[in-house]
Amino acid sequence: MNSASQKHIALISVHGDPAVEIGKEEAGGQNVYVRHVGEALAELGWQVDMFTRKASADQASIVEHTPNCRTIRITAGPEEFIPRDNLFKHAPEFVQQMLKFQQKSGVEYEIVHTNYWLSAWVGMELKKIQGCKQVHTYHSLGAVKYKSISTIPLIAKTRLSVEKEVLETAQRIVATSPQEQEHMRLLVSTKGNIDIIPCGTDIHRFGKIDQQQARQQLGINADTKVILYVGRFDFRKGIETLVRAVAQSQLRGTDLRLIIGGGSRPGQSDGKERDRIEGIVNELGMQDMTVFPGRLGDDDLPIYYAAADVCVVPSHYEPFGLVAIEAMASGTPVIASDVGGLQYTVVPEETGLLAPPKDNDAFATAIDRILSNPEWRNQLGRAARKRVEDKFSWDGVAAQLSKLYVKLLEEPVVVSTKDEAVATA
Ligand code: UDP
Repeated sequence: MNSASQKHIALISVHGDPAVEIGKEEAGGQNVYVRHVGEALAELGWQVDMFTRKASADQASIVEHTPNCRTIRITAGPEEFIPRDNLFKHAPEFVQQMLKFQQKSGVEYEIVHTNYWLSAWVGMELKKIQGCKQVHTYHSLGAVKYKSISTIPLIAKTRLSVEKEVLETAQRIVATSPQEQEHMRLLVSTKGNIDIIPCGTDIHRFGKIDQQQARQQLGINADTKVILYVGRFDFRKGIETLVRAVAQSQLRGTDLRLIIGGGSRPGQSDGKERDRIEGIVNELGMQDMTVFPGRLGDDDLPIYYAAADVCVVPSHYEPFGLVAIEAMASGTPVIASDVGGLQYTVVPEETGLLAPPKDNDAFATAIDRILSNPEWRNQLGRAARKRVEDKFSWDGVAAQLSKLYVKLLEEPVVVSTKDEAVATA
């Protein structure tokens, strides 16, 4: 797209660094989204700067991904890991440092695409100071999250009010599924402009290796039934449901293997959740059939997805759920919780199955249905791959975003005065 050439765009992701290793605490879908969107936009001719917070003194301040796409790490608060619920107090410094960076480099961004509510606030400030246009993706909605947890953090009130303000004032909100859009309208505000542009995945990276080759590489027998989980160790990911479902599977006692992939750090919240899950595995006598391979790197992921008979995404809630489309792109059917974006990506009875969240019985039945019918399993897998090719490739997603930015850049800036909105050239 020529109109994108030479245009600078800032993707802002205060807590989700697009250049770090994915699959550990607080590094998941958002990091993947920002990195892939950034790289794909650069391919389309944009000059992409991805801003994030420097979370360790060892980290490089600038990481070049491709000639037109880089991560810029801003110092805002101590250069150490800070949980996202404690980051808001450093957001003003993030804004100041971003302005300084722009002054120094002589680049001013006409458009900023912010990710998660912390970045939404940064974007709204930049908009007030520089008059840039803002596109926002939530990745997670406080209004949904706080309904599902018992201890509401102190930051909740601020987060909810920022999430409402950005919906009402950003030039465009990008919802990644119709379900997320519905939640915004029902729980956040009826004002503001929303477009639906899904998350994507790399259809060239996943789906290249077949099940037999993948199993050879992992040393798994052709006859073993393999159930896979990939993701962070977080209570809300519902890994316990999966373990309990497999424990009561009718296929228990046959050659069944449960693989639970994801990184964790001892003593941190993900390490504690992993210990808890391992405790349940032991209590249910499933040690011999369960494997914890740890964090799966970029080269491992396509092999694990391809080797599996089924990938299970048992989250309590999921605004989109990249793991589902990665498995589907690999030709592996998905059994997922009947929530959020998973209702959009997984088509029940066609590309996998949906089950009510936290429902061990329903997950067990779904797993047994697919594992006991290999022919149907393959048919679901083929349809899953086709659905991702048609709807969820990064290239397609980036092309839709690029079109949106170009359209917004052509629109006049609307300056709000007390009583009226005035359009300026
Ligand atoms: N992931 C990874 N290695 C792991 C575990 C997860 O690379 O060991 C990646 C996974 O492939 C996916 C992302 O982390 O791209 C998780 O995204 P998702 O939207 O499923 O969940 P989130 O982490 O955003 O809650």
